[in-house]
Amino acid sequence: MACRIIKTARRMGVETVAVYSDADKDALHVKMADEAVHIGAAPAGESYLDMEKIVAACRETGAVAVHPGYGFLSENAAFAERLRQEGIYFIGPPVKAIEAMGDKITSKTIAAEAGVSTVPGHMGVIESAAEAVKIAKKIGYPVMIKASAGGGGKGMRVAKSDKEVKEGFERAKSEAASSFGDDRVFIEKFIEEPRHIEIQVLADGQGNCISLGERECSIQRRNQKVIEEAPSPFLDAETRAKMGAQAVTLAKAVNYVSAGTVEFIVDKEKNFYFLEMNTRLQVEHPVTELVTGIDLVEEMLKIADGQALSIKQEDVTLDGWAVEARIYAEDPYRNFLPSTGRLKRYRPPTEEASAQLVVRNDTGVFEGAEISPYYDPMIAKLVTWGPSRLAAIDGLAVSLDQFDIDGVGNNIPFLAAVMQQERFREGHLTTNYIAEEFPEGFTGALLDEDTMLTMAALACRAAFQLETRGFAHPGAMTQQHVTTERSVLIGDRRWDFSIPKSDESFVLMTSEGQPLLIEDGWQPGASVAATEIDGKMLYVRMDRITSGFRMRYRGADLVAKVVLPHVADLMRHMPKKSPPDMSKFLLCPMPGQVIRLDVKEGDIVEDGQPLAIVEAMKMENVLRAERRAKVARINAAAGDVLAVDAVIMEFEAV
Ligand code: ADP
Ligand code: ADP
Ligand code: MG
Repeated sequence: MACRIIKTARRMGVETVAVYSDADKDALHVKMADEAVHIGAAPAGESYLDMEKIVAACRETGAVAVHPGYGFLSENAAFAERLRQEGIYFIGPPVKAIEAMGDKITSKTIAAEAGVSTVPGHMGVIESAAEAVKIAKKIGYPVMIKASAGGGGKGMRVAKSDKEVKEGFERAKSEAASSFGDDRVFIEKFIEEPRHIEIQVLADGQGNCISLGERECSIQRRNQKVIEEAPSPFLDAETRAKMGAQAVTLAKAVNYVSAGTVEFIVDKEKNFYFLEMNTRLQVEHPVTELVTGIDLVEEMLKIADGQALSIKQEDVTLDGWAVEARIYAEDPYRNFLPSTGRLKRYRPPTEEASAQLVVRNDTGVFEGAEISPYYDPMIAKLVTWGPSRLAAIDGLAVSLDQFDIDGVGNNIPFLAAVMQQERFREGHLTTNYIAEEFPEGFTGALLDEDTMLTMAALACRAAFQLETRGFAHPGAMTQQHVTTERSVLIGDRRWDFSIPKSDESFVLMTSEGQPLLIEDGWQPGASVAATEIDGKMLYVRMDRITSGFRMRYRGADLVAKVVLPHVADLMRHMPKKSPPDMSKFLLCPMPGQVIRLDVKEGDIVEDGQPLAIVEAMKMENVLRAERRAKVARINAAAGDVLAVDAVIMEFEAV
């Protein structure tokens, strides 16, 4: 975010100072800013969350204003107040507006009083599990238990029964206390088949306030957005206008200044309810910028400078469609648990802007950088714009194919898979999308027949390129020794190709006699093959492995072996390696700390019973039994910091 802000500031001729912790001493924002000040150790509490250090950095450099970005102190009223006392401008709303909107219970009350439609529920702090059950019953199930100080999708639980309210209440309270230092929770109705649609507002210090249309952010995991778009495929002009008007009403009710977002949850009948207001720039702000043509950071800086808004409500028009994919260091194959490590490779697609496609990559990392466990594991935000929704989606799919990241687990395969799902392309979204479309978790995308043939052909050509490259060397085999038949094996599938002698225009013949023209195959050494097969351009990530390639394309991860036909015949008879049976073990799903063990050696556990809680990146994960079994051995204790796949306990069949 700092990098994003610096770009606009630079264009406007505003000088910038970056602050950084030990973990970020080589970070991109430090290199980009005009000046940089070190503010402490890696844990956020000792650096980015320490207001005095930031005030000191302002004094030291003569900075006149602070843009807080998002996260950290961006919605912290005490910080805004502290800066005010120092005569430093906080680029955001007035202290009172942050206070009013920063707390979910308070903001809901203010919204209701201003005539904004709010989620039905109880507008007060709940003291005990017993009281929680009473209130939940009155609201009617399902309900949502939320931390009043919550954010980032943390500290909320859905409950469908008295029992779940009791359990969820305790967990929500403890998570709220550890994440936000404030254990107040409240309960509201859980809206079913909900869509998350939010309104961007912009207000100046002269009392002008406008809305800049909506963003739909329904594709979420753990109540946290991963794919966002503007406009929403669900809203009509009338609902958009009503939501915009309510958002402006709420902003005016708290004398809002600067950029802010009013979040709504929308049900299938297009009834909308206020969720919360984020008193800062939002992660997904680029999609609004791309459809409105307004630079939100520029507006924030101008408002901070005391200027009036130059845009009137009637000047705001929405043009085309924009989609953003958040690229996270997380493992999509393991329930999106965070990953850390060094970016051995980081090659984003080239940014571009034409009347048909805009590709924008907002990032703060570079090849060789470390994704530390200290902060949010976001690597980049890849955003595309197109004249239509499908043009933007297709552009994003191609850009994701080109995005080359290695060394750290990341969610690109998952994002690429979503771009191709019919349901996503038709715009039938709800916040349950991921749970409904990937009920067993994400296991990789399946490619259609034609695409599989294309992958096999590309592997064949790439292998052939490697073989023939050897002929350039003295003493190498002569060309006539090259057999012109090759078989490609992917999983249980096999394709047979004949290969022409000349490498000029490369045509492969399939065993059915279908010719395939492959232009510009894989360049040895390159990790993304940019290739044109039968006139269609595609980008495939290719890594060499023994007698073949690992190929990654559109969310699929394939191993292609390229062999002589008689070898392929023989390989059919090879015994299949079956993966070791790990069901007797409870493995630690991500690097993290054991918070609690819920069972002891000798216990009989039932399917679904909680076994242990492991915390990573401030998130508590409950690990549960997958079947009835006896706990034979426990290898970890509360407080232990474990690596991924560490064996926490071992089971015996009963
Ligand atoms: P958005 O609504 O823009 O997606 P999120 O609510 O997901 O924003 O949060 C944006 C960023 O701020 C994330 O990096 C998140 O982890 C962080 N964040 C949100 N709320 C808090 C909070 N109360 N304390 C610390 N970080 C927070
Ligand atoms: P945060 O501060 O963490 O962003 P929000 O209140 O904005 O918390 O909620 C985050 C997400 O949780 C929403 O986008 C939505 O998917 C889900 N959610 C929140 N409240 C409800 C509700 N009452 N009914 C259904 N889903 C909800
Ligand atoms: Mg929210």
